Amino acid sequence: MSEGNKGALVGLAAGAGAMVFAPVLLFLAVSGGGTEPPAGGGGALKSGTVPAEYVPWVLRAGAMCPEIGPAVIAAQIEAESNWNPEARSPVGAQGLSQFMPGTWTTWGRDDDGNGRVSPFDPGDAIMAQGRYDCSLAQQIKRYKDRGIAAGPTLDLTLAAYNAGPGAVEQYGGIPPYTETQGYVTRIKSLISKYEDVAAGGGGGGGGTIPAGQKMAMPLAGNPPMTSPYGMRVHPVTGVNKLHTGMDFGVPSGTPIRAAMDGTVTFAGWNAGYGNRVVISHGTMDGKTIATTYNHMSAIGVSKGQKVKVGAPVGAVGSTGYSTGAHLHFEVQQNGQYVNPAPWIGK
Ligand SMILES: [Zn+2]
Repeated sequence: MSEGNKGALVGLAAGAGAMVFAPVLLFLAVSGGGTEPPAGGGGALKSGTVPAEYVPWVLRAGAMCPEIGPAVIAAQIEAESNWNPEARSPVGAQGLSQFMPGTWTTWGRDDDGNGRVSPFDPGDAIMAQGRYDCSLAQQIKRYKDRGIAAGPTLDLTLAAYNAGPGAVEQYGGIPPYTETQGYVTRIKSLISKYEDVAAGGGGGGGGTIPAGQKMAMPLAGNPPMTSPYGMRVHPVTGVNKLHTGMDFGVPSGTPIRAAMDGTVTFAGWNAGYGNRVVISHGTMDGKTIATTYNHMSAIGVSKGQKVKVGAPVGAVGSTGYSTGAHLHFEVQQNGQYVNPAPWIGK
């Protein structure tokens, strides 16, 4: 970890080793897997604050450890790059999360599965940021346990992200550097912009199924239903047929959450449904149960992944046969579409 220092204070030293990382990158590209363990919880990200294409990554990175929620991840990205995936600093920091090359070799992986490990790939950058943040948070907690440093874990973790954990150890807290102190203050003020307090505050916490319901709502904040299950004239095809799910009209990029614990059986493209995820929930009352999430702008899970209720599934969009951003949510019982309303307490 002694090299794991990405702040501008040490940027020149770290930047000097920039070209050393190319062979390591090649190695990682061959050996690095494209998948992370399933995210544990949905967290609480305020709708519409994070660019839609980054929402699934921010949710996944923000679910890696309880100390670092998605709002912290988002606040750091704004401070580091203002959401510019091509950002380059004068001292050599790169991409959305402004990794120095030396730090990137430790934390970068091919999380987006595109065959390269790059700090300019938003998925790779955001997931590496989550891993690095969580590693620093664990290190800070060890410092606190041993009486080496004192203060709130988040503040000290942010200070370590900016100045390096060695500086936190040296000063027993936030180092007396103007830049580092300003960084901690700035991130903490930005967190409130991204955090959906109404949905349960920060941290990675998973969702729960409300008492009396079989499933949780797949969206936070009880959004309006814009089209119910049942027969209707289809808004795109004009044909009178069964509307196989419920529509919720919410902005593009709104995080979608798993309605129950389950296993992802499909995550990909369907001409009608656009970006679609199907989750199998096993058997209830002798019947197989599945839920589907459709028209997404981004998919945040992969086939075979196990998810907990409330876990991020993707982001609302308008892909496939769709006339505007909404979530089309379906429930299948023994493979047949049924009205989702009673399942989610609507
Ligand atoms: Zn629909």
